[in-house]
Amino acid sequence: MSNPHPVLVVGAGPVGLTTALALRAEGLPVTVLEADGENRQRPGSRAIFYHRQTLQLWEQMRSGLGWEIARAGLVWSTKRTFWGETQVYERTYPLPRPDVLPSSTNLGQVDAEAILFRHCREAGIEFAWNQQVSAVSSTPEGVVLQTAAGREWQARYIVGTDGGRSVVRKSVGIELEGPRIEDAFVIVDVAEDPDDPIRPERLYYYEHPAVEKRNVLLVPFRNGIRADIQLRRGDNPDHFNQPDSVKHWLGRVLPPKYADRVTWVSTYQFMQVVARSFTDQHRRVLLAGEAAHLFAPFGARGLNSGVPDAVAAATSIAQALNASNPAQAADAIQQAAERRREAALYNRNASNLALEHMRADGLGTRLKRKASALLARYGTRAGSYLDSAPFGPRASARKSSDGIY
Ligand SMILES: Cc1cc2nc3c(=O)[nH]c(=O)nc-3n(C[C@H](O)[C@H](O)[C@H](O)COP(=O)(O)OP(=O)(O)OC[C@H]3O[C@@H](n4cnc5c(N)ncnc54)[C@H](O)[C@@H]3O)c2cc1C
Repeated sequence: MSNPHPVLVVGAGPVGLTTALALRAEGLPVTVLEADGENRQRPGSRAIFYHRQTLQLWEQMRSGLGWEIARAGLVWSTKRTFWGETQVYERTYPLPRPDVLPSSTNLGQVDAEAILFRHCREAGIEFAWNQQVSAVSSTPEGVVLQTAAGREWQARYIVGTDGGRSVVRKSVGIELEGPRIEDAFVIVDVAEDPDDPIRPERLYYYEHPAVEKRNVLLVPFRNGIRADIQLRRGDNPDHFNQPDSVKHWLGRVLPPKYADRVTWVSTYQFMQVVARSFTDQHRRVLLAGEAAHLFAPFGARGLNSGVPDAVAAATSIAQALNASNPAQAADAIQQAAERRREAALYNRNASNLALEHMRADGLGTRLKRKASALLARYGTRAGSYLDSAPFGPRASARKSSDGIY
């Protein structure tokens, strides 16, 4: 290898941008290779909900970043859950203290990425656009990447943050393991009417009476609201996502004027998959974000776990570059890969629990949900279960060596 880059990041999505910032925080020069051109339009209807842990990690890698995303986002303080027409749970949290990062914030992924990208530019990170990586080969000494246009790049280490269809992952022979979930969800983003702002409340409806008893989740974010309808088995997703159909059901779960303010519609059948390994056989390639795992978004574990993947990758690559011998370098990479895979398995399990609850396939779950709906009128415990179960167990329940999920 002649004069390789110390490290290259493949993919300028939110996890790639975060990886680049975390590597800069380690004092390393970074170049990000991105398949798209610089003025691309990024898709909507993806992440909106960022946990405090994510904001803290962003703040640690670049002073002011976590706070900027926290302030750009909307903090909803009330959550309410309904069974049909009956409210079964309500909780209002105190407003966040001005000197502590909020427990979460809600901001469209496109806006969060724009902030991350500006910070990357300010941190001196290089971007190479229109570099669609088509093949990656690793050796004990480093990595060689080929692009579709025939250019070659060389690096001592790379981080594959090239998303769910990761060419990096496939090139080094790592498979994703896990199922695809049959249930389909139609997710619609709607622009807020500035003259009539949306109440900062997260609403979850079991068996919403206005949409033939389908489950509906409504989450406000800065300048918008996300409406998520869980289709029933036998529903045709290609019907529910058509403009006339969206207008019809959306106008029944939100004030009708919102049916004319749709900004993005997507249909999802979610994967619950984790890469067999987060590193290659030579410990020169690390995977992070959706290149390494794909989860259903209930509980918001995708990007919120991609950010600690990015931090672990950056820290371990800095250690490996400074290691006194190859075995020590390989060990630093291996440990980071194992820790983040363990976290991904935990996150997948948490989002599996949320999905099982929402799908209610088993008689036990159906009975527990119905009994809780009846009991909720006598106390908050049953209501609290109905409110929280669609999002999986709380992250704070996790006991891991570093406490990061
Ligand atoms: C409906 C929905 C709601 C969600 N809500 C949340 C939420 O509230 N909170 C949360 O934490 N997560 C959420 N997620 C998950 C979140 O959107 C993802 O985890 C996140 O986008 C993953 O980012 P990434 O950078 O890994 O991948 P991507 O965003 O897919 O970025 C990959 C990048 O790599 C580039 N690329 C691809 N192939 C190549 C190649 N061969 N060469 C070079 N570049 C390449 C792409 O152009 C892209 O720029 C949600 C997802 C969905 C679908």
